Amino acid sequence: MSGQSIADARRRCLKTLVVTGAVLAVGWGAPRRASAQALPQVAANDPAAKALSYVPQAAASKNSAHKAGADCAACRFYRGKPDHAAGLCPLFPGKEVKAGGWCQAFTAK
Ligand code: SF4
Repeated sequence: MSGQSIADARRRCLKTLVVTGAVLAVGWGAPRRASAQALPQVAANDPAAKALSYVPQAAASKNSAHKAGADCAACRFYRGKPDHAAGLCPLFPGKEVKAGGWCQAFTAK
């Protein structure tokens, strides 16, 4: 790996950590809403979605970090019911992510 690509990888990693930390801090501080209340889906132009390369369809991700089979439903942060097409994720407080979505913060269950 060249010095340039190591620096790029380090920069991307730091950016992801900073964004993730900020989003988690906001998310954990936000009041919880009733589960029956409909929440908006994360929009493609959401700043946090852009920072984390979120896509509503994991298979459509062009991010090189995405691995086959990795989606929100298989992520430890996902808080959706198995029979629902979308659920909560603490990285996107007040919004729902698609069960078949994906972002760079994906962590397998
Ligand atoms: S992959 Fe995980 S962290 Fe990323 S949006 Fe989906 S549930 Fe949240």
